[in-house]
Amino acid sequence: MSQADLQGRYAAVMMNAFGAPKRVFARGEGVHLWDEDGNRYTDLLSGLAVTALGHAHPGVTAAIAGQLGSLGHVSNFFASEPQVRLAERLAALTGDPGARVFFTNSGTEANEAAFKLTRLTGRTKVIAMEGSFHGRTMGALALTANPKYREPFEPLPGEVVFVPFGDEAALSEAADDRTAAILIETVQGENGVVPVPDGFLKAARGIADGVGALLWIDEVQTGLGRCGEFLAHTADGVAADLITLAKGLGNGFPVGACIATGRAADLLQPGQHGTTFGGNPVAAAAGNAVLDALEAGALDNAREVGAWLAAAIEGLGHPLIESVRGGACCWASC
Ligand SMILES: *Cc1c(COP(=O)(O)O)cnc(C)c1O
Repeated sequence: MSQADLQGRYAAVMMNAFGAPKRVFARGEGVHLWDEDGNRYTDLLSGLAVTALGHAHPGVTAAIAGQLGSLGHVSNFFASEPQVRLAERLAALTGDPGARVFFTNSGTEANEAAFKLTRLTGRTKVIAMEGSFHGRTMGALALTANPKYREPFEPLPGEVVFVPFGDEAALSEAADDRTAAILIETVQGENGVVPVPDGFLKAARGIADGVGALLWIDEVQTGLGRCGEFLAHTADGVAADLITLAKGLGNGFPVGACIATGRAADLLQPGQHGTTFGGNPVAAAAGNAVLDALEAGALDNAREVGAWLAAAIEGLGHPLIESVRGGACCWASC
């Protein structure tokens, strides 16, 4: 089937949520993709920050296929070994032995879980950043600053206040004893890859502690090795109360997680939140295989290749390249 044929069929049957697809892909391997007409591409988009280990990664593929062949799904009334193991490994990344995990299928759902959890503090105000992106469901959209995404769907869940990204004084002014949480991305990905200014996460930690609010870091795009660390914010020496993950966690298999530490870990009680698919055995097997690969050297590789790529692009001295931005934690030059 040619790309043109499939593009026509797509236009006739798919809701027009994404515009016309530029390519129709047939397969992928490592950093390469092939379209339906047999053209090969180097994939620098990685499925929007998802396939960080490359397409058709053998470890992830084997884990998913193996798990699906033995136990594909059980209800969350029950549990499975891969799920418990993945939760233990994610919780351990925080360094807090009391950390707890809630699994989801996507980033926006991880943020919904965290948002609901903040309400259980008894407070309702959340401070988010200008330029933020946290997802498309109603709660996550309420936390997303871009008016283009928000306005057609208002009214959204309330009491979300936006302050300029990196503005310590504005954050300090906005934070009060009604504030449930302060929500920050370590690098604002959708906003054009804007790293958090130096010292801002530490300042936010202090401000959150000062008013008794939770510090919530959205690592949906930055986590799992994409900035050279399991969790990018740990490079700043900051501990978060809530961490949300998704994109890279399953290397393409849909899986997300909301991790809570300290007092936030015990807020959620039976019946208050749920999911049919979240953290099912196959999703968990994918997550475990990704963590295996990161531990086996992919994390170091991300740091090395990140630094090399940044230097190489800067070295081009091309007049159209103004600067190179990214997760500064992994770049020797920063
Ligand atoms: C992509 C993204 C989300 C939303 O994730 P989905 O899986 O698309 O729902 C949330 N937060 C950040 C920082 C993201 O980059």
